[in-house]
Amino acid sequence: MESYCQYHPLEPSEWYCKNCQVHFCEHCVAMPPGSYNAQCPVCHQNLGHSGSTAKVPPFWQCLSDFFAYPISRDPIVLIAICTLLPAIFNQGFLALIILIVLVCAQTKYMYLVIEQSARGDLKPPTLKEAFMGGGLMLVIQQTLIFIIFGGLVFAANMWLGSGIAMLLLILILIGLPASIMLLATEHEITQALDPSRILGVVGAIGWPYFVMCGYLILLMLGLGAVQEFVVTRFNPSLAYTITGFTSSYFMLVIFCMMGYVLYQYQPRLGGAIHSSQHEVHKPDLAQKNEKQSLIEIDIALKDGRYDLAIESLTNLFSRKPYDKVTLDRLFKLLMLTGRWDVLDKKSLPVLKLLVETGRIREIRQMLRGLYSKREKFEVRDPEAAYHIAQSLYHAGDYRLLLRVLQGYGQRFKDAPHQAEVIMLSARALANGLHNGPKAKQYLMYLAKNFSQDDLAAQVPELLEHLKKDGRLPDPKVSFG
Ligand SMILES: [Zn+2]
Ligand SMILES: [Zn+2]
Repeated sequence: MESYCQYHPLEPSEWYCKNCQVHFCEHCVAMPPGSYNAQCPVCHQNLGHSGSTAKVPPFWQCLSDFFAYPISRDPIVLIAICTLLPAIFNQGFLALIILIVLVCAQTKYMYLVIEQSARGDLKPPTLKEAFMGGGLMLVIQQTLIFIIFGGLVFAANMWLGSGIAMLLLILILIGLPASIMLLATEHEITQALDPSRILGVVGAIGWPYFVMCGYLILLMLGLGAVQEFVVTRFNPSLAYTITGFTSSYFMLVIFCMMGYVLYQYQPRLGGAIHSSQHEVHKPDLAQKNEKQSLIEIDIALKDGRYDLAIESLTNLFSRKPYDKVTLDRLFKLLMLTGRWDVLDKKSLPVLKLLVETGRIREIRQMLRGLYSKREKFEVRDPEAAYHIAQSLYHAGDYRLLLRVLQGYGQRFKDAPHQAEVIMLSARALANGLHNGPKAKQYLMYLAKNFSQDDLAAQVPELLEHLKKDGRLPDPKVSFG
């Protein structure tokens, strides 16, 4: 029976947590950095694989498919070109160029075979793709790998003795298929040479990796036997053509099998192999942690464990104080769940975000809630308080404006906008709350205590207006 992800009901299950008895899909599980084990996003125990991937037949049952793989138009044409062209052009500079181009194309094609079959696609790549470039880089990288491995064995033989050199050679030969797989999927020589990555692949596949090595040895022996048979029975030029064909054929079978092994053990490999086609940049530790946090928040929300989601979002926001998306999610969740205590603590960044994005309706909702539920709540930043008050004036919420600006002079002694704040309060009183006398008091206070300020000079004129119309004119718009 097929099982599905508990949190993404349309996704087939990839992982199962024995502890929580819950199925997870690939979207729910982020590999912790440097680890090949997937962890449960709920209880953080190691996860096991779900049954669904068992439907992929093991590679040892697919040998006939691998042998049939090269017998198709594109690979046969490629093999024919690579075997026959060098036979025709075998002298001079042109021949060298042709040879280089063909070696590059063939190498590129082989690595494409691994990449495609690693995705479960057993249709050979097209001929065009082989000549689309990138082959030279692969040839250089692969050659470098051989030189480095060869150099290591040589150095071991020089300084550590032939026994250790032999051991090292065997280890390298065992690791070579994993190194080729890494180069094919990651396109980076550093990954293909990294012993920990190679061990990671071998370890993740487990004993079937050695079964695969056994098959690879048998195939190489088979190829050798065919070559010997051909060379001893046919005339040189025919033998050359046939050996060219057979070696290309066997290499295609081998690369297809290696790709299929990656496909079959994909869930086990998980983080051990990542196709670089999907991830151009390697995510660093913080990003991976963040992905894990986001998954956990998502799951906590779906489970209705809001406190956990709030905690994770708060942590995530403390790590990335400029991440407005996280802050916005946190704000909405806090409003929905009525967690005014947390909202109080985070009120300043939240208010700044809301002012910046002009979300006056949400500012009013949040401030009303905080003033009524949190006795000691204040907007604790003079700049923010002033900007919020301005927005509230335009929104016509004069009472809330006066509440925000209450005690501004005492609370923020050295803040700028002192005079502006008094003027704004006077306007709110006169024009919004029709409290002329109180507005007059404010204006008189402004004239007396901020006589140096430009606004103080306007006071006599404003008092005239107030007396005549019972309101204050809106400030003149000045440019510059
Ligand atoms: Zn899921
Ligand atoms: Zn669990």
